Amino acid sequence: MKCTMDNGSISKSAKKRIVILGGGFGGVYAALHLERLLAREPEVEICLVSRDNFFLFTPMLHEIAASDLEITNIVNPLRKLLRRVKVFVGEVERIDLPNKRVVISHGHHNYDNHSHRLEYDHLVLALGSITKFFNLPGLAEQALAMKSLPDAIQLRARIIRSLEEANSECSLGDRQSLLTFVVAGGGFAGVETVAALNDFVRAALQFYPNLRERMLRVVLVHPGELILPELGERLGRYAQKVLAQRPFALLPTESHRDGRACALGQPAAGIVSRLFLYPALSSPGDCKVRIRRRRRNADHYFSQAPGADCRPEPAPARRRRSGPRRRMA
Ligand SMILES: Cc1cc2nc3c(=O)[nH]c(=O)nc-3n(C[C@H](O)[C@H](O)[C@H](O)COP(=O)(O)OP(=O)(O)OC[C@H]3O[C@@H](n4cnc5c(N)ncnc54)[C@H](O)[C@@H]3O)c2cc1C
Repeated sequence: MKCTMDNGSISKSAKKRIVILGGGFGGVYAALHLERLLAREPEVEICLVSRDNFFLFTPMLHEIAASDLEITNIVNPLRKLLRRVKVFVGEVERIDLPNKRVVISHGHHNYDNHSHRLEYDHLVLALGSITKFFNLPGLAEQALAMKSLPDAIQLRARIIRSLEEANSECSLGDRQSLLTFVVAGGGFAGVETVAALNDFVRAALQFYPNLRERMLRVVLVHPGELILPELGERLGRYAQKVLAQRPFALLPTESHRDGRACALGQPAAGIVSRLFLYPALSSPGDCKVRIRRRRRNADHYFSQAPGADCRPEPAPARRRRSGPRRRMA
């Protein structure tokens, strides 16, 4: 991005500047839409700020963990995707609503870390969510999340390391726990991940002479009767039937909501595992300005910002299923 530095701020020209925070689904699709909409408006500039310089197609993240796809299949460089949008790669540290500016830092990993102020006329928030651990003891430290590319790469490495360890003669005592893989949550991310993990470890077994399929235990822990609540009862029931034909255990648990089934070291069902995956129970991120999902709270913050418009979008005339869910269905 071409920026003029002025005491740490990225100075603004006379053009109207729209700043989009976040380079995920929300941010990138907002940028693509605005790019098209404002193609003939030279007086408007659009900047997108994100931690990474690529867009990540999260619905296929588990396929990286399971070695079904290469990394380059699910990432798309932002600079290639967005031709008219200026891309700023950095960490959003703070949003200063009254002064209409955002503080962004960059230069990690041996570079000089410093911050800039980026002024805006209009702000689009699309920072996604963070994994919520409900303050369960040990969970944040020991469980693997499944939200980012490093998470998927780490999961793949941990699965392979577990198989290697379990295969060695000296690990007889630990074999059961090394070959037990537990995934929490029967939503999209949990179900896709457990299915991919299950296929991956079973296919890998042929390369480990000391391991047998009967030694494996792959468990999905889910609160409630039906998995995939996002898809409704009929599809949830169907998915559950399909999964039941595969060799892994579905462990419904009522106590999950208050955390007892997930508390590491004291699992309600007595599962001992070295690999516990906690895919995507999310809550909004925590930039210095916290915007909660509930509109009342967002309205409260934005009503204090000059010129802020918090009115809901008018409902579309006819709802169409779109986006990744349609593609993945
Ligand atoms: C494993 C998995 C599988 C999924 N499968 C499906 C599916 O099949 N179908 C479906 O509809 N949905 C699926 N989802 C959910 C879907 O990915 C999310 O609904 C979607 O990503 C939300 O889009 P978003 O733009 O709000 O957030 P995100 O896509 O998470 O984007 C947020 C962006 O903001 C950036 N960011 C966050 N904080 C900062 C900061 N402080 N500074 C700079 N940048 C920041 C992030 O790096 C990211 O680029 C899945 C999710 C996961 C994790």
